[in-house]
Amino acid sequence: MHETVFDRILNGALPVDSVYEDEDVLAFRDINPQAPVHVLVIPKAKFARFTEIADRPIEETGRLFSAISKVATSLNLDSSGYRVVINNGRDSGQEVEYFHAHILAGRRLAWPPG
Ligand code: AMP
Repeated sequence: MHETVFDRILNGALPVDSVYEDEDVLAFRDINPQAPVHVLVIPKAKFARFTEIADRPIEETGRLFSAISKVATSLNLDSSGYRVVINNGRDSGQEVEYFHAHILAGRRLAWPPG
């Protein structure tokens, strides 16, 4: 797998506005926010796409999704609500080939998404 911008963030080469970190994930504010709250959650155990989750250990995936939920709670988003977005592949608009979940909040989000 080639080095992505998120590899550089995780190894400390690129500074970010970090909001949460534990043994499984790092969460930081998106550099180009699409909502008042726009946070990215990346796993420390790298994989490129959501597609690959089918081949990864269930326990790891459980911890990853638990961490995404904890990030949203730590940002006080539980009562107002939020959206978790995972882009996968070309048609989704995935730009960075390192798995990441977007947490979007702070305004009413349109549905269906564009
Ligand atoms: P995606 O289109 O799902 O691959 O989303 C990639 C996201 O990474 C975009 O929302 C970008 O704005 C964001 N991004 C790219 N580089 C950085 C960076 N250095 N710091 C924070 N967010 C970034």
